[in-house]
Order: sequence, then C-alpha cells, then structure tokens
Amino acid sequence: MIKAIYIHIPYCALKCHYCDFLSFGREDEAHMKRYIDYLCREIKLAKEKYAFNEADTVYIGGGTPSILPYEALKALFGTIEREILAPGKIAEYTFEANPESLSAEKIELLAAFGVNRLSLGVQSSDDEYLKLLGRGHNFKQAEEAIKLLRRKGLRNISIDLMYALPQESLQHWQETLKRAVDLAPEHLSAYQLQIEEGTYLAKLQKEGRIVPADEDTAAEMLAFSSEYLPENGYERYELSNYAKTGFRSQHNSHYWHLDDYLGLGLGATSLVDGEHLVRPRTLKEYYQTLDEGRLPVGARETLSLREQMEEYILMNLRLKEGVSLKDFAARFGCSFSQTYAQAIAKTAGLALSETDGEYFRLTEKGKFLANVVMLEFLN
Ligand code: SF4
Repeated sequence: MIKAIYIHIPYCALKCHYCDFLSFGREDEAHMKRYIDYLCREIKLAKEKYAFNEADTVYIGGGTPSILPYEALKALFGTIEREILAPGKIAEYTFEANPESLSAEKIELLAAFGVNRLSLGVQSSDDEYLKLLGRGHNFKQAEEAIKLLRRKGLRNISIDLMYALPQESLQHWQETLKRAVDLAPEHLSAYQLQIEEGTYLAKLQKEGRIVPADEDTAAEMLAFSSEYLPENGYERYELSNYAKTGFRSQHNSHYWHLDDYLGLGLGATSLVDGEHLVRPRTLKEYYQTLDEGRLPVGARETLSLREQMEEYILMNLRLKEGVSLKDFAARFGCSFSQTYAQAIAKTAGLALSETDGEYFRLTEKGKFLANVVMLEFLN
C-alpha cells in the first residue's frame, strides 16, 4: 500500500558547490514546462497502476521546485489534485523552495492547492559562506521569505542548515543556530557538509583553496546542536532532524519506517512491495518511455530478507525511539534480540546502545558513533 508520494523537480537556478544530486542549472521556461507536461503524464499513468487511497503525504522536492514558472506549477498542482489527493486524506503536503525564488504569487498558489508545509534551504546565516557554498541567496532573503510565508498563512516551515563548513569554527556554527532559532521554524534539519567527488568544493579542496572542518570540531558542533535545539523547544527525533511538538516530518517518517512510497519524475526512487525502483536518470529515456505510453522504470532491485532487515535497522536506529522489537517481529517473522544478539551485546557493552524491552536504540554516546553501531548490524 503506497503511503507516501514523492515528486522530483530536477531544476535549480544555479548548481550549489557541494551538490551531487540529480539537478540541472537554470533551463529556459519552455524546457521546464516540457518536463512538467511529461511529469503530469507520468502521474496519470501511475494512477492507473497504483492505488493512492492509503497515501497521506505528498512531497515535491528537487532540485528547487520553487523555480518552476507559475503556469507550470499550476499545471502540476492541478494534476496532483485530480489524480492523487483523495479529499481529506493528505495530512502533509510539502513543497521545497529556495528563498530567492519564492514570490507572494507562488505562495498563494501553493496555499490554494493545499500545500501545508514548506521546506526552505537556508544552510548558513553567513553570507560569505553562502557564497562559498554557491547558494543563490543571502541570509536576509531567507528571513524575508519566512516572513512572507507567515504573512500568507503557512504554519509549518522547515529549514535546512549545514555545519562543518570549510574552516568553520564552533562559535560560527553557534551563531547560525541561534539565528535559525530566531526564525522560529517548526522543523529544522542540520546536516554535516560532505565534500563529494566531482563537486566544485572538491575541486577547491584539491587545489588547496579550502580546508574542510576537522572531525573534532564537527563533533563539537553536533554536540552543541543536540543540546541547544532541545533547550529551545526542538526535539531531536532523528539524528539530523529536530521538530517542535507535533511537527515531525510525516513524509520522512514513512521512509524511516520503510513504508511503501512512490517516487515520480526523473531519477526518483520508490519502494513498492519490497522492491526498490529507480526512474530513468536521463531526460531522453524518461521522455521516450512516456511517449510510448509506459511508466518509466529505469532500474529495479529486490532486496533479500536479510537486506530488508538491515535496511530497516539502519533507518530505525536513526530515530529517537529506535527499532521497535514488536514491529520487527511482525514484519520479518523473527526476533530482533535473537537474530542480532551478538551486535546488541557488543554495542550495549560499549554503552552505545540500550533497550527497554520494547525498543532498541542508540544511547546519547551512540548517536555520535551511529555509523560504528550500524556497521555491527550489517552482514
Ligand atoms: S538547491 Fe539543492 S538540489 Fe539544487 S543545486 Fe543546490 S543543493 Fe543541489
């Protein structure tokens, strides 16, 4: 049963210097409108194949969906409304945006079509760092975008931040976090910058023009975030995610719980009946398949039972509650405690994990060494 629907918009105003996602720099409007036309066809075909009546979250992500031209956005929202949204069923409808491409007109359009959650890329409060990251906005624009969203009635705003920027100090990150809390979003994600091969930052690093933050400083930043944000009313409900009461991401919760979800659009991934599907990653293949009247599926992978168990554990260990022993047994027909007795004993012996008889979870110490714990559960 599909519980969540993700829709991918692969366009951005500029390519951020750290980004290795499937997204293209600015294209002309005709190009983007063409993509939306095909995406709407895909949504209609998906409706013929899958039942959406159990889906309760929709997430339009990218890329930067907010750079779509107004008319293209309207066409997309109209199709989603006709084909996907069962009245009263969608509890959370999220739209990703960057501050520089949100206008009053677009926000009114989102609200008119029922979007009730906005995820905004902010990343840093320091304009020099925003330039280094290749972002197309400054911090003032982020503040203005949030004010505009509030004026237009949006009550659920999430912001993304990034820490451990090149040569960033702990004090600098503390300043970004304080200014982020002043923006009073309902939800906040904080990810450590990873310099990925092939990105502009990787080139700068190779040329010796930037020096990545050292791991000790990154750990201090994480320690500060995990204390400062809860002190300010944000529960750390997932390793990188914090929310005010009642504002956990319902859509991402479906991913973490390994519920079935359908991804539509270029390169989007899905999990349906234990099978991972990946849509084509080239526009040529994506358009061609739709022209033939077929749903584009680029690659599929069926996980073995052991792989499904491992994926479930890795996802659930990220959550505050941890792995539910009852849910694990119901899902996989075996006892978590018996199947992973060795890994449980080893990580508990190092005070990295704990259990209360219902859940198995990371300790506070374990959250700093989550990867080490997770490795113990991999075959
Ligand atoms: S806005 Fe997001 S998807 Fe687009 S280039 Fe920047 S990081 Fe990548």
